[in-house]
Amino acid sequence: MTTLMESEEHRSLREAVATFAKNHPRTLDTGNRQLWQEAAKLGYIGVNLPETYGGGGGGITELSLVLEEMGAAGNPLLMMIVSPAICGTVISRFGTDAQKRDWLPSLADGTRLMAFGITEPDAGSNSHRITTTARRDGTDWLLTGRKVFISGVDIADATLMVGRTEDARTGRLKPCLFIVPRDTPGFERRQLDMELNAAEKQFELTLDDVRLPAEALVGDEDAGLLQLFAGLNPERVMTAAFGIGMGRYALARALEYARERTVWKTPIGAHQAIAHPLAQAHIDLELARLMTQKAAHLYDAGDDTGAGEAANMAKYAAGEACVKAVDQAVHTLGGNGLTREFGLAQLITASRVARIAPVSREMILNYVSHRTLGLPKSY
Ligand SMILES: Cc1cc2nc3c(=O)[nH]c(=O)nc-3n(C[C@H](O)[C@H](O)[C@H](O)COP(=O)(O)OP(=O)(O)OC[C@H]3O[C@@H](n4cnc5c(N)ncnc54)[C@H](O)[C@@H]3O)c2cc1C
Repeated sequence: MTTLMESEEHRSLREAVATFAKNHPRTLDTGNRQLWQEAAKLGYIGVNLPETYGGGGGGITELSLVLEEMGAAGNPLLMMIVSPAICGTVISRFGTDAQKRDWLPSLADGTRLMAFGITEPDAGSNSHRITTTARRDGTDWLLTGRKVFISGVDIADATLMVGRTEDARTGRLKPCLFIVPRDTPGFERRQLDMELNAAEKQFELTLDDVRLPAEALVGDEDAGLLQLFAGLNPERVMTAAFGIGMGRYALARALEYARERTVWKTPIGAHQAIAHPLAQAHIDLELARLMTQKAAHLYDAGDDTGAGEAANMAKYAAGEACVKAVDQAVHTLGGNGLTREFGLAQLITASRVARIAPVSREMILNYVSHRTLGLPKSY
């Protein structure tokens, strides 16, 4: 793949991460903790966090590049989408000094992780409907609600929880964010039985009058959507990088196979019915990456609005490119595409994550229809 838009520094970072990732075979142990810490020690996990707090002082551009290369080597670190990208960004941009001092150095050096919980069973894609509610009790907060599909809650030291205050319980979402430590009384989790062969698990959460000190509220109660979107755009860019990495991994396995496997006179890769779809998959991944670079660049340049549109489009393009690349890779291997030994079949489900989360393909098409193209809304 070309890296035309990237500086010399970015290219070296890509190469360094790729070499690191290739030397660490895929693991499914407790959340890839060892791999995570080794990557953090090399500065990869906190590359976007401020230098004053032990980070690399880079942006989402660098962080997404790290995740893409990890994925391309078969080690997609899903929690990178959450811990440094969403939580690290929100805390560095909006957290109090105490929250920055408390969390950023350990998120950067990999000793602690933070999960992120917005999705609720009765709200789904419609986050304006979330009902997790924070009620004041003296100077404390009492948080009550339910969340679903929240990744990595077991391995994260805390979850950044999106709720709304009692006086803003209805109407357009005016979110407020709380840091909820894993073992806080009243905060329960149940692992969901997902058809995903990944180290990072998903959980259903219940919060029953979870008592939190005033300092658990991130930033300002009134900062609302601005604060939330500071985390959601990086999440979309990172999910795009996750999808591109996985697509590249699958495509590379298919190419190795197609160059060797011979059942007639030539390797199967010589048949255009095999070669062309693989070429298309490569082109789609390249295009998705270009949009991802644009989105990351706009975000890092401080253009939140421009980044919003580009990040949505990048996530869409990468999700579709990932699903198609995996589908074609599995098909290229024939029966071996479905064996565990070749490891591609499990990516059929994994690749769908990039299409569903954190915002589904249809919700992005809605966004582009309404915001970009000015078409009326159906909902
Ligand atoms: C592996 C995985 C990890 C996840 N990790 C996290 C996490 O860490 N934190 C977190 O908060 N969430 C997480 N999620 C949740 C994820 O963000 C949601 O699944 C996603 O936002 C979709 O919501 P939903 O599942 O409720 O689907 P629904 O909102 O119920 O949507 C179902 C279908 O209906 C379509 N649809 C809905 N509304 C419309 C409309 N207006 N127009 C057209 N089509 C529509 C959708 O596109 C989708 O195809 C994770 C999900 C997965 C699968």
